[in-house]
Amino acid sequence: MKVQEARYVMSNSDYEKCPDPVLPEYAFIGRSNVGKSSLINMLTGKKSLAKTSQQPGKTQLINHYFINESWYLVDLPGYGYAKVSKVEREKWEKMIGDYLHNRENLICTFVLIDIRHSALAVDLEFMAGLGEAGIPFHIIFTKADKLKPNQAINQMEAYRQKLAEVWEEVPPMFITSAEKNEGRDPILEAIETYNQS
Ligand code: GDP
Repeated sequence: MKVQEARYVMSNSDYEKCPDPVLPEYAFIGRSNVGKSSLINMLTGKKSLAKTSQQPGKTQLINHYFINESWYLVDLPGYGYAKVSKVEREKWEKMIGDYLHNRENLICTFVLIDIRHSALAVDLEFMAGLGEAGIPFHIIFTKADKLKPNQAINQMEAYRQKLAEVWEEVPPMFITSAEKNEGRDPILEAIETYNQS
């Protein structure tokens, strides 16, 4: 699939106020600074698309982008930011939890992981929550250019093994570098396959 058109639609704190749930949507989430905005810009081929939602006050919201007039890409606020207060964290948990558990047109969630880090508790816990709730997800490793190609593959395989210790089925994994503009097509193909099924 080629992204011909990508535009920002709206930002919400309540999943029920998001666009009508009649078209498929795919959510992107990860720790703050994982490279989510850069990845979204790479996937859509628009250099500053994800910045639209990064204006003050909008970073902690559910952000919808409409792609090719046929599906939504959803930019979810990141987790694991050390400076966030308990109250803010609980607000985030409620907003994201409600969205992930109830959004009926959410087809798949992409969890972003910085490829340089070995498995972090915060990511593993988040994914365990998805698994327990039966919410389908894929893993996208970001910033692959920071490692040599074989190191990147080793990191991914180590992660796969770690998950296989507790998961019967390990989710699909993708390696990307927004810096080098690499890894876009397999992700868009996965989305296209879902859209066609
Ligand atoms: P977000 O907070 O998850 O939306 O992350 P950003 O996309 O804003 O990126 C956080 C930082 O990581 C920025 O300094 C980016 O330039 C850098 N970054 C993002 N993607 C890549 C990448 O693929 N390679 C490298 N080397 N740096 C990246």
